[in-house]
Amino acid sequence: MEHVDVIIVGAGLSGIGGACHLKVECPKKSFVILEGRETMGGTWDLFRYPGVRSDSDMYTLGYRFRPWRDNKAMADGPAILSYIRETAAEYDVEKTIRYDHRVRRASWSSDHARWTVEVETGPEKALVQLTCNFLYLCTGYYNYESSYTPDWPGVARFRGTLVHPQKWPEDLDYTGKRVVVIGSGATAITLVPAMAERAAHVTMLQRSPSYVVSRPAEDKIANWLRRVLPDRAAYVLARWKNVLSGTFFYNLARKRPELFKWMVARGVRHELGEKYDSKDFTPPYNPWDQRLCLVPDADLFREIREGRVSITTDHIETFTEDGLLLKSGKRLDADIIVTATGLVLKLFSGMQLVVDSAPVDLPKTLVYKGMMFSDVPNFAFAIGYTNASWTLKCDLTAGYVCRLLNYMDQHGYAVCTPRVNDADIEEEPVIDFNSGYVLRALDTLPRQGSKTPWRLHQNYLKDLSMMRYGRVDDGTMEFKAASVARAAGAVASG
Ligand SMILES: Cc1cc2nc3c(=O)[nH]c(=O)nc-3n(C[C@H](O)[C@H](O)[C@H](O)COP(=O)(O)OP(=O)(O)OC[C@H]3O[C@@H](n4cnc5c(N)ncnc54)[C@H](O)[C@@H]3O)c2cc1C
Repeated sequence: MEHVDVIIVGAGLSGIGGACHLKVECPKKSFVILEGRETMGGTWDLFRYPGVRSDSDMYTLGYRFRPWRDNKAMADGPAILSYIRETAAEYDVEKTIRYDHRVRRASWSSDHARWTVEVETGPEKALVQLTCNFLYLCTGYYNYESSYTPDWPGVARFRGTLVHPQKWPEDLDYTGKRVVVIGSGATAITLVPAMAERAAHVTMLQRSPSYVVSRPAEDKIANWLRRVLPDRAAYVLARWKNVLSGTFFYNLARKRPELFKWMVARGVRHELGEKYDSKDFTPPYNPWDQRLCLVPDADLFREIREGRVSITTDHIETFTEDGLLLKSGKRLDADIIVTATGLVLKLFSGMQLVVDSAPVDLPKTLVYKGMMFSDVPNFAFAIGYTNASWTLKCDLTAGYVCRLLNYMDQHGYAVCTPRVNDADIEEEPVIDFNSGYVLRALDTLPRQGSKTPWRLHQNYLKDLSMMRYGRVDDGTMEFKAASVARAAGAVASG
């Protein structure tokens, strides 16, 4: 059976980033990336709807180690995909990717101090096994196969075209068509102005509004820094500028919600003038109880002002032959209805984790430093922030995995396992968001603890000090030499 030091699962933004870290920081480690799809890029390859883009700035969504060189800070999907591909080529990690390798199960054996990973590949879904010392999951957070669509009455009656953004038909022509986009999250807010460029009219139908804030698509300060400084220096400064301003505004929103709400409402009123209707922009929750929606260069507001887009805040009574009948009695006629109703959160794409023949029950585990689970040895996962760019956290995680591996090598350890050895730790939900996709999955998720290192900081500065400069041997991580691990395994099985 083929054996490598590290298996990375997933060749998206995080998997490619993780591989580059390994290449540079652990040059002697052998590794492969197992990717279930035929191509790299993950999210940025899967989503093909009009206008698909980031809603974070690329100075923080980009890798710490590779400058973002495009003028646009809020970047289009294809530009992000190119960035991932170019990074993989530049760091020479492309050749380590095994495409069409879908991991179904990974089981840890203490006897052998290694993982056995079961993979489906090829048209026959042949089962292949590989082993590794350390398993690093970079599988994203949602179900690739299906998206969330509520069970609306009458859907089958609708004679027009029904589309979900996760499975966008390549040949969908919406020129001159009446479009209704159901949803109010980042996807709806992106799609609506993009489709309005060609459609006859686009209506965004939302059950409840989101906080919507306009940001310049281009970051003038970052672009100026790039003109006057070498690439890397400009990138570091732009990244820090955005980390600090993002942290400031997040804290302001959480500590002074009324002030923040007022600022957001003032911005929207200013953009929309007489077209402003407070009920379409006043969510029933506080800022950052759900993710904030950012629009580049006020594109959504411009389309509303110019009459190509309208927003309706209402509930669906039923689909009809011609569109939708709403609870208020209003009808929305449509040729195309887009259900931007969200993702299905599914950690590790449902792959099964087993430790010494016992399946890992995620809700019974605690998350360690936002990257490992209690009692699961030689294992890490890349999950980003909910309140800042994904990569800020995943870069720290990948760096920490390398520190951990190097530390183990230096001390002759083969096994590392986070253990809850503090009786005062209390369990809490892992995410404090109240977005539908989080609430729907909360009982399948692991938990966090009330104290460091079991607490999820959702704060780059705190994580930076813990993960880049904090001790690896922190009193919570248990280390074992290979011989000790094997002896313990022999006792347990004997
Ligand atoms: C439309 C959209 C826009 C977004 N915009 C932003 C943004 O602006 N800012 C931000 O911070 N975040 C954003 N996100 C979150 C986004 O998913 C992350 O930023 C980031 O791209 C995730 O990268 P990833 O590599 O961790 O996961 P993914 O991109 O999901 O990649 C995971 C990869 O793992 C593979 N995989 C999964 N399971 C298996 C398995 N069992 N075996 C083998 N391979 C497997 C998948 O095929 C995929 O290639 C957005 C998400 C979406 C859906």
